[in-house]
Amino acid sequence: FDNARLDGDVASVQATGTTMPGVAPALAGDIGEVLVSADEIARRIGTLAARVDADYAGRELLLVGVLKGAVMVMADLSRALRTPVTMEFMAVSSYGSATSSSGVVRILKDLDRSIEGRDVLVVEDIIDSGLTLSWLLKNLRSRQPASLEVLALFRKPEAITVDIDVRYVGFDIPSAFVVGFGLDYGEHYRTLPFVGTLTPEAIARGPR
Ligand code: 5GP
Repeated sequence: FDNARLDGDVASVQATGTTMPGVAPALAGDIGEVLVSADEIARRIGTLAARVDADYAGRELLLVGVLKGAVMVMADLSRALRTPVTMEFMAVSSYGSATSSSGVVRILKDLDRSIEGRDVLVVEDIIDSGLTLSWLLKNLRSRQPASLEVLALFRKPEAITVDIDVRYVGFDIPSAFVVGFGLDYGEHYRTLPFVGTLTPEAIARGPR
C-alpha cells in the first residue's frame, strides 16, 4: 500500500474536531493509519459491480449480506449494479475474542426466504481466517441455490490457507485488525468512510 498518498486522510481524521463525515470527533484520535481511502473503496466497488454485471448478464441475483459488517458494501454494491437484485440478510456470530474468530458459528438471524434455485452472491466485509465464511458457505450450499459465489471487500493473507473460492475480492490487506466501512471494534467505528487501523492505545483500552 502506498500510504503516502493517504496522508491527507490521516491528517484530517486525526485533527481534532474533524469535519470528515462519518468520523465522530471523539473517535478520530483512535485511528492509527488509513489503509484504504473512501475514494479507493468507491472505485473498487464500481469495478467489482461491472464484473458482477458481466458475469450475471440476463439473470437476477440474490445478494445475501452478512450483518452487520457488510451493510456498507451491500448498500454501495447493490446500487452500483445494473443486474436486477433482491437482498437478504443473515447475522452470524463467531465465538472468539474481540479481534479473532474461532470458526464456531451461531446463526443470530436466518434468511427470511428460501434460496433454492436462486443465483446467490454472498456479500462479506472481510475474510480473516476464513472460518466464518467456510461455515456459512457449507450452510448455504445445503439449501440448494442454483449458484453460490462470494464477494468480499477485504481479505487478509491468512484466508488463503482456507480452501474457499472467493470470486470477487476488493482488496488484499495486511494482517492487522481494521475498522471502518462497516467494520467495528465494540460496535464503534463502523461509519468511518475509509478502512484503517486503530492506535495501540485504542486497542489496549478495549472496546468502547
Ligand atoms: P474470519 O472467520 O474470516 O476469521 O472472520 C470473519 C469475521 O470476523 C468478519 O466477517 C468480521 O466480522 C470479523 N473480522 C475479521 N477481521 C476483522 C478486522 O480486521 N476488523 C474487524 N472489525 N472485524 C474483523
